[in-house]
Amino acid sequence: MKYIFVTGGVVSSLGKGLTAASLGTLLENRGLKVALQKFDPYLNVDPGTMSPYQHGEVYVLNDGAETDLDLGHYERFTNTKLTRFNNLTSGQVYQTVLDKERRGEYLGKTVQVIPHVTDEIQKRILELGQKTGADVVITEIGGTTGDIEGLPFLEAIREFTLDVGMSNAIFVHVTYVPFIKAAGELKTKPTQQSVAKLREIGIAPHILICRCEQPLNKELRQKMSLFCNVPYEAVIEEKDVEHSIYEVPLMLQRERVDDLVCRLLQLEVPSADMSHWQDIIRKLIAPQHQVRIGVVGKYIGLNDAYKSVFESVSHGGVANDCGVQIERVDAEDIEKNGAAATLKGLSGILVPGGFGERGIEGKIAAAGYAREHGIPYLGLCLGMQIATIEFARSVLKLEGAGSTEFEPTTPYPVIALLDEQKKVTQKGGTMRLGSQPCRLVEGSRAAELYGTSLVHERHRHRYEFNNLFREQYEAAGFSFSGTSPDGKLVELIELKEHPFYMASQFHPEFQSKPSAPHPLFRGFIAASLVHQSRR
Ligand code: GLN
Repeated sequence: MKYIFVTGGVVSSLGKGLTAASLGTLLENRGLKVALQKFDPYLNVDPGTMSPYQHGEVYVLNDGAETDLDLGHYERFTNTKLTRFNNLTSGQVYQTVLDKERRGEYLGKTVQVIPHVTDEIQKRILELGQKTGADVVITEIGGTTGDIEGLPFLEAIREFTLDVGMSNAIFVHVTYVPFIKAAGELKTKPTQQSVAKLREIGIAPHILICRCEQPLNKELRQKMSLFCNVPYEAVIEEKDVEHSIYEVPLMLQRERVDDLVCRLLQLEVPSADMSHWQDIIRKLIAPQHQVRIGVVGKYIGLNDAYKSVFESVSHGGVANDCGVQIERVDAEDIEKNGAAATLKGLSGILVPGGFGERGIEGKIAAAGYAREHGIPYLGLCLGMQIATIEFARSVLKLEGAGSTEFEPTTPYPVIALLDEQKKVTQKGGTMRLGSQPCRLVEGSRAAELYGTSLVHERHRHRYEFNNLFREQYEAAGFSFSGTSPDGKLVELIELKEHPFYMASQFHPEFQSKPSAPHPLFRGFIAASLVHQSRR
Protein backbone atom coordinates (compact mmCIF):
# COMPACT_ATOMS: atom_id res chain seq x y z
CA MET A 1 0.00 0.00 0.00
CA LYS A 2 1.17 3.50 -0.83
CA TYR A 3 0.56 6.72 1.07
CA ILE A 4 0.41 10.36 0.09
CA PHE A 5 0.30 13.04 2.76
CA VAL A 6 -0.93 16.46 1.77
CA THR A 7 0.01 19.39 3.99
CA GLY A 8 -0.63 23.10 3.57
CA GLY A 9 1.59 26.12 4.06
CA VAL A 10 1.52 29.91 4.31
CA VAL A 11 -2.26 30.50 4.50
CA SER A 12 -5.49 28.56 4.85
CA SER A 13 -8.15 28.32 2.12
CA LEU A 14 -5.58 27.28 -0.47
CA GLY A 15 -7.75 24.52 -1.82
CA LYS A 16 -5.73 21.68 -0.29
CA GLY A 17 -8.84 19.52 -0.33
CA LEU A 18 -9.36 20.19 -4.01
CA THR A 19 -5.74 19.38 -4.71
CA ALA A 20 -5.96 16.11 -2.76
CA ALA A 21 -9.23 15.24 -4.51
CA SER A 22 -7.73 16.06 -7.93
CA LEU A 23 -4.73 13.83 -7.24
CA GLY A 24 -7.30 11.17 -6.40
CA THR A 25 -9.07 11.73 -9.75
CA LEU A 26 -5.83 11.35 -11.68
CA LEU A 27 -4.66 8.23 -9.85
CA GLU A 28 -8.09 6.64 -10.14
CA ASN A 29 -8.03 7.26 -13.88
CA ARG A 30 -4.70 5.51 -14.04
CA GLY A 31 -6.44 2.42 -12.76
CA LEU A 32 -5.55 2.69 -9.08
CA LYS A 33 -7.96 2.30 -6.17
CA VAL A 34 -7.67 5.35 -3.96
CA ALA A 35 -8.90 6.17 -0.48
CA LEU A 36 -8.99 9.75 0.76
CA GLN A 37 -9.10 10.96 4.33
CA LYS A 38 -8.96 14.29 6.13
CA PHE A 39 -7.40 15.01 9.49
CA ASP A 40 -8.72 18.13 11.22
CA PRO A 41 -6.67 19.47 14.10
CA TYR A 42 -9.50 21.25 15.96
CA LEU A 43 -10.93 19.91 19.21
CA ASN A 44 -14.56 19.59 18.18
CA VAL A 45 -15.47 15.92 17.85
CA ASP A 46 -16.98 16.74 14.48
CA PRO A 47 -17.99 19.93 12.66
CA GLY A 48 -21.69 19.20 13.24
CA THR A 49 -21.93 21.66 16.12
CA MET A 50 -20.01 24.46 14.41
CA SER A 51 -21.58 27.52 12.82
CA PRO A 52 -21.28 27.91 9.05
CA TYR A 53 -19.39 31.14 9.81
CA GLN A 54 -16.71 29.04 11.49
CA HIS A 55 -16.62 26.09 9.24
CA GLY A 56 -18.71 26.41 6.09
CA GLU A 57 -20.93 23.53 5.12
CA VAL A 58 -21.19 20.34 7.16
CA TYR A 59 -20.93 17.47 4.69
CA VAL A 60 -22.97 14.37 5.58
CA LEU A 61 -21.94 10.85 4.60
CA ASN A 62 -24.10 7.77 4.01
CA ASP A 63 -23.38 6.48 7.51
CA GLY A 64 -24.56 9.75 9.03
CA ALA A 65 -21.12 11.15 9.87
CA GLU A 66 -21.08 14.94 9.89
CA THR A 67 -17.77 15.84 8.28
CA ASP A 68 -15.57 18.49 6.77
CA LEU A 69 -16.61 19.89 3.41
CA ASP A 70 -13.41 18.59 1.81
CA LEU A 71 -14.98 15.14 1.97
CA GLY A 72 -17.54 16.51 -0.46
CA HIS A 73 -14.74 17.21 -2.91
CA TYR A 74 -13.40 13.69 -2.40
CA GLU A 75 -16.78 12.16 -3.26
CA ARG A 76 -17.40 14.46 -6.22
CA PHE A 77 -13.95 13.96 -7.73
CA THR A 78 -13.56 10.21 -7.23
CA ASN A 79 -15.59 7.05 -6.94
CA THR A 80 -14.66 6.41 -3.33
CA LYS A 81 -17.49 5.97 -0.85
CA LEU A 82 -16.60 7.58 2.41
CA THR A 83 -17.51 6.70 5.99
CA ARG A 84 -16.82 8.26 9.38
CA PHE A 85 -13.36 6.67 9.21
CA ASN A 86 -12.38 9.14 6.50
CA ASN A 87 -12.46 12.20 8.77
CA LEU A 88 -10.52 12.38 12.01
CA THR A 89 -10.42 15.36 14.37
CA SER A 90 -8.19 16.01 17.37
CA GLY A 91 -11.40 15.85 19.39
CA GLN A 92 -11.97 12.24 18.30
CA VAL A 93 -8.35 11.30 18.92
CA TYR A 94 -8.39 12.69 22.44
CA GLN A 95 -11.79 11.15 23.16
CA THR A 96 -10.42 7.73 22.20
CA VAL A 97 -7.21 8.17 24.19
CA LEU A 98 -9.04 9.41 27.29
CA ASP A 99 -11.60 6.58 27.12
CA LYS A 100 -8.73 4.10 26.96
CA GLU A 101 -7.04 5.77 29.89
CA ARG A 102 -10.24 5.51 31.95
CA ARG A 103 -10.50 1.81 31.09
CA GLY A 104 -6.95 1.36 32.37
CA GLU A 105 -5.64 0.20 29.02
CA TYR A 106 -2.37 2.10 29.33
CA LEU A 107 -1.37 -0.16 32.25
CA GLY A 108 -0.14 2.55 34.55
CA LYS A 109 1.87 4.49 31.98
CA THR A 110 1.92 8.26 31.73
CA VAL A 111 -0.33 9.06 28.78
CA GLN A 112 1.39 11.48 26.39
CA VAL A 113 1.01 13.16 23.02
CA ILE A 114 3.96 11.11 21.78
CA PRO A 115 3.43 8.14 21.53
CA HIS A 116 -0.22 7.71 22.58
CA VAL A 117 -1.90 10.45 20.60
CA THR A 118 0.37 9.97 17.57
CA ASP A 119 -0.17 6.18 17.68
CA GLU A 120 -3.91 6.70 17.58
CA ILE A 121 -3.52 8.93 14.50
CA GLN A 122 -1.28 6.41 12.72
CA LYS A 123 -3.76 3.65 13.47
CA ARG A 124 -6.39 5.55 11.51
CA ILE A 125 -4.18 5.75 8.43
CA LEU A 126 -3.53 2.00 8.50
CA GLU A 127 -7.15 1.16 9.27
CA LEU A 128 -8.45 3.13 6.30
CA GLY A 129 -6.06 1.32 3.98
CA GLN A 130 -7.11 -2.07 5.37
CA LYS A 131 -10.83 -1.30 5.31
CA THR A 132 -10.86 -0.03 1.73
CA GLY A 133 -8.19 -2.25 0.20
CA ALA A 134 -6.91 0.85 -1.61
CA ASP A 135 -3.69 0.95 -3.61
CA VAL A 136 -3.07 4.51 -2.50
CA VAL A 137 -4.26 6.28 0.67
CA ILE A 138 -4.28 10.06 0.39
CA THR A 139 -4.36 11.82 3.74
CA GLU A 140 -4.91 15.55 3.91
CA ILE A 141 -3.81 17.34 7.07
CA GLY A 142 -6.07 20.30 7.79
CA GLY A 143 -4.75 23.65 8.98
CA THR A 144 -1.50 25.36 8.12
CA THR A 145 2.05 24.25 8.89
CA GLY A 146 3.16 26.03 12.01
CA ASP A 147 -0.19 25.75 13.83
CA ILE A 148 0.36 24.40 17.33
CA GLU A 149 -2.66 22.10 17.17
CA GLY A 150 -1.48 20.48 13.94
CA LEU A 151 1.82 19.29 15.42
CA PRO A 152 0.69 15.84 16.65
CA PHE A 153 -0.62 15.05 13.16
CA LEU A 154 2.63 16.09 11.48
CA GLU A 155 4.65 14.13 13.99
CA ALA A 156 2.39 11.11 13.39
CA ILE A 157 2.87 11.15 9.61
CA ARG A 158 6.62 11.65 9.99
CA GLU A 159 6.86 8.55 12.19
CA PHE A 160 4.50 6.70 9.87
CA THR A 161 6.72 7.12 6.81
CA LEU A 162 9.67 5.77 8.76
CA ASP A 163 7.68 2.61 9.43
CA VAL A 164 6.34 2.03 5.91
CA GLY A 165 9.53 2.99 4.10
CA MET A 166 10.46 5.93 1.95
CA SER A 167 9.34 4.42 -1.36
CA ASN A 168 5.86 3.83 0.02
CA ALA A 169 4.99 7.28 1.28
CA ILE A 170 5.44 10.81 0.00
CA PHE A 171 4.75 14.31 1.27
CA VAL A 172 3.00 16.82 -0.97
CA HIS A 173 3.08 20.37 0.32
CA VAL A 174 0.50 22.80 -1.03
CA THR A 175 1.79 26.32 -0.68
CA TYR A 176 1.05 29.87 -1.74
CA VAL A 177 3.16 32.03 -4.02
CA PRO A 178 1.68 35.51 -3.71
CA PHE A 179 1.80 38.14 -6.41
CA ILE A 180 2.91 41.45 -4.93
CA LYS A 181 1.29 44.12 -7.02
CA ALA A 182 3.62 46.96 -6.04
CA ALA A 183 6.66 44.88 -7.01
CA GLY A 184 4.92 43.29 -9.98
CA GLU A 185 6.37 39.97 -8.88
CA LEU A 186 5.55 36.57 -7.47
CA LYS A 187 7.27 35.96 -4.15
CA THR A 188 8.69 32.63 -3.00
CA LYS A 189 9.82 33.56 0.52
CA PRO A 190 6.62 32.45 2.31
CA THR A 191 6.98 29.06 0.63
CA GLN A 192 10.62 28.79 1.62
CA GLN A 193 9.71 29.56 5.21
CA SER A 194 6.85 27.16 5.33
CA VAL A 195 9.02 24.35 3.96
CA ALA A 196 11.71 25.26 6.51
CA LYS A 197 9.08 24.89 9.22
CA LEU A 198 8.17 21.42 7.92
CA ARG A 199 11.79 20.35 7.75
CA GLU A 200 12.27 21.48 11.36
CA ILE A 201 9.70 18.85 12.29
CA GLY A 202 11.49 16.27 10.17
CA ILE A 203 9.29 16.35 7.08
CA ALA A 204 10.93 17.07 3.73
CA PRO A 205 8.31 17.49 1.02
CA HIS A 206 8.77 15.52 -2.19
CA ILE A 207 6.45 17.73 -4.21
CA LEU A 208 5.57 21.40 -3.88
CA ILE A 209 2.23 22.43 -5.31
CA CYS A 210 2.29 26.17 -5.70
CA ARG A 211 -1.02 27.99 -5.65
CA CYS A 212 -0.64 31.24 -7.55
CA GLU A 213 -2.55 33.83 -9.52
CA GLN A 214 0.18 34.23 -12.16
CA PRO A 215 2.20 31.55 -13.94
CA LEU A 216 5.49 30.47 -12.36
CA ASN A 217 8.45 31.15 -14.62
CA LYS A 218 11.57 29.04 -14.87
CA GLU A 219 13.61 31.21 -12.47
CA LEU A 220 10.97 31.00 -9.76
CA ARG A 221 10.73 27.26 -10.13
CA GLN A 222 14.51 26.96 -9.95
CA LYS A 223 14.62 29.17 -6.89
CA MET A 224 12.02 27.14 -5.02
CA SER A 225 13.69 23.92 -6.08
CA LEU A 226 17.00 25.14 -4.67
CA PHE A 227 15.78 26.71 -1.45
CA CYS A 228 13.14 24.12 -0.65
CA ASN A 229 15.28 21.14 -1.59
CA VAL A 230 12.88 19.57 -4.10
CA PRO A 231 13.80 18.58 -7.68
CA TYR A 232 12.94 21.13 -10.36
CA GLU A 233 10.18 18.97 -11.89
CA ALA A 234 8.56 18.60 -8.46
CA VAL A 235 7.77 22.31 -8.29
CA ILE A 236 4.22 22.28 -9.61
CA GLU A 237 2.18 25.27 -10.67
CA GLU A 238 -1.47 25.29 -9.62
CA LYS A 239 -2.85 28.55 -10.88
CA ASP A 240 -6.32 29.85 -9.97
CA VAL A 241 -8.77 28.16 -12.31
CA GLU A 242 -10.59 30.35 -14.79
CA HIS A 243 -13.99 28.70 -14.95
CA SER A 244 -14.46 25.75 -12.68
CA ILE A 245 -12.80 23.79 -9.90
CA TYR A 246 -13.16 20.69 -12.07
CA GLU A 247 -10.31 22.03 -14.19
CA VAL A 248 -7.82 21.32 -11.39
CA PRO A 249 -7.18 17.63 -12.24
CA LEU A 250 -6.49 18.56 -15.87
CA MET A 251 -4.18 21.36 -14.79
CA LEU A 252 -2.24 19.00 -12.52
CA GLN A 253 -2.07 16.42 -15.29
CA ARG A 254 -0.54 19.03 -17.62
CA GLU A 255 2.07 19.64 -14.91
CA ARG A 256 2.67 15.86 -14.88
CA VAL A 257 2.20 15.60 -11.17
CA ASP A 258 0.59 12.17 -11.45
CA ASP A 259 3.58 10.86 -13.42
CA LEU A 260 5.83 12.15 -10.70
CA VAL A 261 3.76 10.62 -7.91
CA CYS A 262 3.73 7.25 -9.65
CA ARG A 263 7.46 7.39 -10.21
CA LEU A 264 8.18 8.30 -6.58
CA LEU A 265 5.88 5.59 -5.27
CA GLN A 266 7.13 3.07 -7.83
CA LEU A 267 3.68 2.50 -9.25
CA GLU A 268 3.71 1.14 -12.76
CA VAL A 269 0.38 2.12 -14.26
CA PRO A 270 -0.78 3.54 -17.59
CA SER A 271 -1.34 7.27 -17.95
CA ALA A 272 -4.75 8.70 -17.12
CA ASP A 273 -7.44 8.92 -19.79
CA MET A 274 -9.27 12.10 -18.85
CA SER A 275 -11.45 12.47 -21.95
CA HIS A 276 -14.75 12.13 -20.04
CA TRP A 277 -13.53 14.78 -17.63
CA GLN A 278 -12.60 17.06 -20.53
CA ASP A 279 -16.13 16.68 -21.84
CA ILE A 280 -17.53 17.86 -18.50
CA ILE A 281 -15.23 20.87 -18.58
CA ARG A 282 -16.31 21.74 -22.10
CA LYS A 283 -19.94 21.79 -20.97
CA LEU A 284 -18.99 23.98 -18.02
CA ILE A 285 -16.92 26.42 -20.07
CA ALA A 286 -18.89 26.65 -23.31
CA PRO A 287 -22.47 25.54 -22.64
CA GLN A 288 -25.20 25.75 -25.27
CA HIS A 289 -27.64 27.46 -22.89
CA GLN A 290 -27.62 29.68 -19.85
CA VAL A 291 -29.96 30.08 -16.84
CA ARG A 292 -30.02 32.29 -13.75
CA ILE A 293 -30.82 30.48 -10.54
CA GLY A 294 -31.58 32.33 -7.30
CA VAL A 295 -30.34 30.58 -4.16
CA VAL A 296 -32.07 32.05 -1.12
CA GLY A 297 -30.20 31.67 2.15
CA LYS A 298 -29.03 33.43 5.25
CA TYR A 299 -25.30 32.67 4.97
CA ILE A 300 -25.30 33.68 1.36
CA GLY A 301 -22.26 35.95 1.62
CA LEU A 302 -20.13 32.99 2.74
CA ASN A 303 -18.50 31.04 -0.05
CA ASP A 304 -18.39 27.74 1.76
CA ALA A 305 -21.77 27.61 3.50
CA TYR A 306 -23.69 26.08 0.58
CA LYS A 307 -20.77 24.41 -1.21
CA SER A 308 -22.47 21.15 -2.21
CA VAL A 309 -25.63 23.01 -3.25
CA PHE A 310 -23.72 25.30 -5.61
CA GLU A 311 -21.76 22.37 -6.99
CA SER A 312 -24.89 20.28 -7.55
CA VAL A 313 -26.61 23.14 -9.37
CA SER A 314 -23.64 23.32 -11.72
CA HIS A 315 -23.84 19.52 -12.25
CA GLY A 316 -27.51 20.00 -13.16
CA GLY A 317 -26.21 22.48 -15.71
CA VAL A 318 -23.72 19.95 -17.11
CA ALA A 319 -26.56 17.44 -17.56
CA ASN A 320 -28.45 20.00 -19.66
CA ASP A 321 -25.47 21.51 -21.47
CA CYS A 322 -26.43 24.68 -19.67
CA GLY A 323 -24.37 27.26 -17.87
CA VAL A 324 -25.74 28.31 -14.49
CA GLN A 325 -25.34 31.78 -13.15
CA ILE A 326 -26.07 31.62 -9.43
CA GLU A 327 -27.65 34.70 -7.86
CA ARG A 328 -27.07 34.63 -4.13
CA VAL A 329 -30.17 36.06 -2.53
CA ASP A 330 -30.15 37.06 1.13
CA ALA A 331 -33.46 35.92 2.65
CA GLU A 332 -33.54 39.06 4.78
CA ASP A 333 -33.43 41.22 1.63
CA ILE A 334 -36.69 39.58 0.56
CA GLU A 335 -38.16 40.49 3.95
CA LYS A 336 -37.07 44.10 3.45
CA ASN A 337 -37.78 44.65 -0.24
CA GLY A 338 -40.38 42.04 -1.13
CA ALA A 339 -40.18 38.88 -3.23
CA ALA A 340 -41.02 40.47 -6.60
CA ALA A 341 -38.31 43.11 -6.35
CA THR A 342 -35.69 40.59 -5.26
CA LEU A 343 -36.53 37.55 -7.38
CA LYS A 344 -37.83 38.96 -10.63
CA GLY A 345 -36.32 37.59 -13.82
CA LEU A 346 -34.82 34.43 -12.32
CA SER A 347 -35.11 31.18 -14.25
CA GLY A 348 -35.43 29.11 -11.09
CA ILE A 349 -35.48 29.50 -7.30
CA LEU A 350 -33.74 27.22 -4.82
CA VAL A 351 -34.06 27.31 -1.04
CA PRO A 352 -31.38 25.19 0.65
CA GLY A 353 -31.17 23.80 4.19
CA GLY A 354 -30.83 25.87 7.31
CA PHE A 355 -31.44 26.23 11.01
CA GLY A 356 -32.94 28.92 13.19
CA GLU A 357 -35.43 31.67 12.68
CA ARG A 358 -33.49 34.42 10.92
CA GLY A 359 -34.58 34.92 7.32
CA ILE A 360 -37.41 32.36 7.52
CA GLU A 361 -40.18 34.73 6.42
CA GLY A 362 -38.08 35.77 3.41
CA LYS A 363 -37.66 32.14 2.39
CA ILE A 364 -41.39 31.51 2.80
CA ALA A 365 -42.06 34.49 0.55
CA ALA A 366 -39.63 33.10 -2.05
CA ALA A 367 -41.41 29.73 -2.08
CA GLY A 368 -44.75 31.54 -2.45
CA TYR A 369 -43.46 33.69 -5.29
CA ALA A 370 -42.19 30.63 -7.16
CA ARG A 371 -45.46 28.76 -6.61
CA GLU A 372 -47.69 31.62 -7.74
CA HIS A 373 -45.61 32.62 -10.76
CA GLY A 374 -44.91 29.14 -12.10
CA ILE A 375 -41.16 29.55 -11.54
CA PRO A 376 -39.29 26.25 -11.05
CA TYR A 377 -38.63 25.70 -7.36
CA LEU A 378 -36.32 23.27 -5.62
CA GLY A 379 -36.39 23.09 -1.82
CA LEU A 380 -33.80 21.20 0.18
CA CYS A 381 -34.58 20.15 3.75
CA LEU A 382 -35.53 23.49 5.33
CA GLY A 383 -36.49 24.49 1.78
CA MET A 384 -39.08 21.71 1.83
CA GLN A 385 -40.33 22.66 5.27
CA ILE A 386 -40.89 26.29 4.33
CA ALA A 387 -42.65 25.30 1.06
CA THR A 388 -45.00 23.26 3.22
CA ILE A 389 -45.59 26.17 5.59
CA GLU A 390 -46.21 28.54 2.68
CA PHE A 391 -48.82 26.19 1.19
CA ALA A 392 -50.56 25.87 4.56
CA ARG A 393 -50.81 29.60 5.01
CA SER A 394 -51.69 30.60 1.42
CA VAL A 395 -53.72 27.70 0.05
CA LEU A 396 -55.07 25.83 3.08
CA LYS A 397 -55.72 29.17 4.81
CA LEU A 398 -54.20 27.94 8.06
CA GLU A 399 -53.25 31.31 9.41
CA GLY A 400 -50.09 31.31 11.50
CA ALA A 401 -49.05 27.82 10.31
CA GLY A 402 -45.38 27.16 10.98
CA SER A 403 -42.64 24.90 12.28
CA THR A 404 -42.27 24.40 16.01
CA GLU A 405 -38.55 25.07 15.45
CA PHE A 406 -39.29 28.78 15.01
CA GLU A 407 -42.78 29.12 16.54
CA PRO A 408 -43.26 26.66 19.39
CA THR A 409 -46.83 27.93 19.93
CA THR A 410 -48.02 27.98 16.32
CA PRO A 411 -51.72 26.99 16.07
CA TYR A 412 -50.91 24.79 13.04
CA PRO A 413 -47.59 22.97 13.56
CA VAL A 414 -47.31 21.56 10.04
CA ILE A 415 -43.62 20.90 10.70
CA ALA A 416 -42.83 19.47 14.14
CA LEU A 417 -40.59 17.16 16.14
CA LEU A 418 -41.22 13.42 16.24
CA ASP A 419 -41.50 11.97 19.75
CA GLU A 420 -38.05 10.36 19.50
CA GLN A 421 -36.47 13.78 18.80
CA LYS A 422 -38.31 15.37 21.74
CA LYS A 423 -36.27 13.21 24.12
CA VAL A 424 -32.94 14.35 22.73
CA THR A 425 -30.89 16.57 25.02
CA GLN A 426 -27.37 16.43 23.52
CA LYS A 427 -26.63 18.54 20.45
CA GLY A 428 -23.79 16.64 18.73
CA GLY A 429 -24.69 13.87 16.29
CA THR A 430 -28.31 13.56 17.43
CA MET A 431 -30.25 14.70 14.37
CA ARG A 432 -31.83 12.31 11.87
CA LEU A 433 -28.62 11.67 9.96
CA GLY A 434 -27.32 9.78 6.97
CA SER A 435 -28.71 7.65 4.19
CA GLN A 436 -32.29 6.41 4.49
CA PRO A 437 -34.57 4.72 1.97
CA CYS A 438 -37.34 6.66 0.25
CA ARG A 439 -40.16 5.11 -1.75
CA LEU A 440 -41.39 7.15 -4.70
CA VAL A 441 -45.03 7.33 -5.75
CA GLU A 442 -45.67 5.82 -9.15
CA GLY A 443 -46.46 8.41 -11.79
CA SER A 444 -44.93 11.26 -9.78
CA ARG A 445 -42.39 13.64 -11.29
CA ALA A 446 -39.90 12.33 -8.75
CA ALA A 447 -40.31 8.74 -9.96
CA GLU A 448 -39.96 9.91 -13.54
CA LEU A 449 -36.76 11.88 -12.81
CA TYR A 450 -35.11 9.12 -10.78
CA GLY A 451 -36.33 6.42 -13.16
CA THR A 452 -36.83 4.05 -10.23
CA SER A 453 -39.17 3.58 -7.27
CA LEU A 454 -36.77 3.24 -4.34
CA VAL A 455 -33.91 5.64 -3.64
CA HIS A 456 -31.51 6.26 -0.77
CA GLU A 457 -30.78 9.82 0.24
CA ARG A 458 -28.85 11.53 3.02
CA HIS A 459 -30.48 13.40 5.88
CA ARG A 460 -29.55 16.04 8.42
CA HIS A 461 -32.52 17.48 10.29
CA ARG A 462 -34.66 17.18 13.42
CA TYR A 463 -38.07 18.32 12.27
CA GLU A 464 -40.53 16.47 10.01
CA PHE A 465 -43.78 17.02 8.20
CA ASN A 466 -46.66 16.56 10.67
CA ASN A 467 -48.92 13.74 9.41
CA LEU A 468 -51.98 15.18 11.17
CA PHE A 469 -52.25 17.56 8.22
CA ARG A 470 -51.56 15.11 5.43
CA GLU A 471 -55.13 14.60 4.14
CA GLN A 472 -55.82 18.31 4.10
CA TYR A 473 -52.75 18.90 1.93
CA GLU A 474 -53.54 16.05 -0.46
CA ALA A 475 -57.10 17.26 -0.93
CA ALA A 476 -55.69 20.60 -2.09
CA GLY A 477 -53.40 19.06 -4.73
CA PHE A 478 -50.16 18.88 -2.74
CA SER A 479 -48.46 15.54 -3.47
CA PHE A 480 -46.28 13.58 -1.14
CA SER A 481 -44.33 11.90 -3.88
CA GLY A 482 -41.72 10.26 -1.67
CA THR A 483 -42.00 8.78 1.81
CA SER A 484 -40.09 6.38 4.04
CA PRO A 485 -40.95 2.79 2.98
CA ASP A 486 -43.44 2.48 5.87
CA GLY A 487 -45.16 5.62 4.56
CA LYS A 488 -44.76 7.47 7.85
CA LEU A 489 -42.13 10.09 7.06
CA VAL A 490 -42.56 12.58 4.23
CA GLU A 491 -39.43 12.73 2.09
CA LEU A 492 -40.47 14.49 -1.12
CA ILE A 493 -43.25 16.85 -2.05
CA GLU A 494 -44.36 18.24 -5.40
CA LEU A 495 -47.15 20.27 -6.96
CA LYS A 496 -48.77 18.64 -9.99
CA GLU A 497 -50.26 21.83 -11.37
CA HIS A 498 -46.91 23.61 -11.44
CA PRO A 499 -44.17 23.40 -14.11
CA PHE A 500 -41.66 22.27 -11.47
CA TYR A 501 -42.23 22.61 -7.76
CA MET A 502 -40.32 19.98 -5.83
CA ALA A 503 -38.76 19.81 -2.42
CA SER A 504 -37.09 17.10 -0.40
CA GLN A 505 -36.67 16.55 3.32
CA PHE A 506 -33.32 14.95 2.48
CA HIS A 507 -30.21 16.54 0.99
CA PRO A 508 -29.72 15.44 -2.64
CA GLU A 509 -26.74 17.80 -2.89
CA PHE A 510 -24.61 15.29 -0.99
CA GLN A 511 -24.88 12.74 -3.79
CA SER A 512 -24.36 14.71 -6.97
CA LYS A 513 -21.19 14.56 -9.05
CA PRO A 514 -20.17 16.29 -12.25
CA SER A 515 -19.89 12.82 -13.80
CA ALA A 516 -23.31 11.79 -12.40
CA PRO A 517 -25.55 14.83 -11.86
CA HIS A 518 -28.33 14.21 -9.36
CA PRO A 519 -31.79 13.68 -10.97
CA LEU A 520 -33.47 16.42 -8.92
CA PHE A 521 -30.88 19.02 -9.95
CA ARG A 522 -30.95 17.79 -13.54
CA GLY A 523 -34.76 18.15 -13.58
CA PHE A 524 -34.66 21.53 -11.86
CA ILE A 525 -32.22 23.03 -14.37
CA ALA A 526 -34.12 21.49 -17.32
CA ALA A 527 -37.33 23.11 -16.04
CA SER A 528 -35.56 26.42 -15.42
CA LEU A 529 -34.34 26.36 -19.00
CA VAL A 530 -37.88 25.81 -20.27
CA HIS A 531 -39.20 28.57 -18.01
CA GLN A 532 -36.59 30.98 -19.27
CA SER A 533 -37.19 30.26 -22.95
CA ARG A 534 -40.93 30.85 -22.45
CA ARG A 535 -40.42 34.29 -20.98
N1 GLN B 1 -33.85 23.15 10.75
C1 GLN B 1 -34.56 22.10 10.07
C2 GLN B 1 -34.59 20.82 10.87
O1 GLN B 1 -33.79 20.63 11.74
C3 GLN B 1 -33.96 21.86 8.71
C4 GLN B 1 -32.57 21.32 8.74
C5 GLN B 1 -31.84 21.42 7.44
O2 GLN B 1 -32.23 22.16 6.55
N2 GLN B 1 -30.73 20.73 7.33
O3 GLN B 1 -35.39 19.98 10.64
